[in-house]
Amino acid sequence: MTRQLITAAENTWCPGCGNFSIQHMMKSALLELNREGLAFENVVLVAGIGCHGKLVDYLDINSFYAIHGRPIPVASGIKIANPDLHVICFSGDGDAYAEGLDHLLFVAKRNLDITVIVHNNRVYGLTTGQYTPTSPEGFKGRSTPRGTIEKPLNPLELVLASGGTYIARGYTKKLQQLKELFKQAIRHRGFSLVDVLQVCATYYDIHDYYDRHVYDLTDHDPGSYSQAWQKVREWDYNADAPIALGTFYQAALPTFEERLLRPGGGTIDRVEKIRRILSRAV
Ligand code: SF4
Repeated sequence: MTRQLITAAENTWCPGCGNFSIQHMMKSALLELNREGLAFENVVLVAGIGCHGKLVDYLDINSFYAIHGRPIPVASGIKIANPDLHVICFSGDGDAYAEGLDHLLFVAKRNLDITVIVHNNRVYGLTTGQYTPTSPEGFKGRSTPRGTIEKPLNPLELVLASGGTYIARGYTKKLQQLKELFKQAIRHRGFSLVDVLQVCATYYDIHDYYDRHVYDLTDHDPGSYSQAWQKVREWDYNADAPIALGTFYQAALPTFEERLLRPGGGTIDRVEKIRRILSRAV
C-alpha cells in the first residue's frame, strides 16, 4: 500500500494560504523519490518557527522543530552526525533571512548537503503582519503603518555569492514546477536552496502581481555562474521587473561533510566514534 504521508493533525493554516501548495508538492516529491529508491526513514524534516513550521506536523516523516531562526544549525548537526540522511529544512523568510541569515550564508559557503526550502511570503504571518527582509519598500504592516523605508534583500543573490551550489525559485501557483524543483534540490549533492514565493492570503496577498510578472527560465544554462548572476539580479524583490522561476544555478562541488568526515577519501566508523565521545562524557 502506498504511504500517504499526510498526518491526522488538524490543519490551522488560513484558507488560501500558499503553505498548502508547499506541503502537498513536497508530499508528491517525496512519494516520487521514494519510488526511485529514497527510503522515508532516511529523510528528516526540520522546521523553524512561523506558520510554515506547522508543515512538519502535517507530513508523516521524521521531523524536528528548531527555535526561531535556527533550523539550519539543527539540520547541519543532523547531517554531520549521519551523512546518509536527506535533511530538508523548512524556514520562513523572517526565520531564514533575518534571524537565521548568517546560518544560511555559512551553510552555503560550506556546501553542506542539505536542502533549505524558504516559504517566502514576505511578511510575518504568524505574528499578524510585520515586514520582513524581503518585504518591498513601502510595505504597510503592523510595525510599519506608514510603509517601510528599507529596500528588501535579494536572498538568491546573497546565497549565490556565498557559494550555494543549487539555487532555484518556485511559486505556489506553479505546482508541477514546484514539485520538480523540490525533487532536484533533494537529489542535488551539496547545499540547495529553493526560495518559494508563497502568498500569505491574510496579510499580504499579491497573487495578482505575481501572476502578471512570473515567467519560466528557458534558454538558460544553470551551469553558468555568470548567467545565474545576471538572472538572480533581474528582479531584486522590489523593482517592477520580470520574475524568473526555475533553477538559476547548479554546480557539482565537494560537500562539507565529505571534506570533514572523509578527508582522505576513505570511510569512517561513525558509530564507533560516537561511542568513544559518549564514553568520555559519562
Ligand atoms: S497568516 Fe498567512 S502565512 Fe500564516 S497561515 Fe494565514 S495565510 Fe498562511
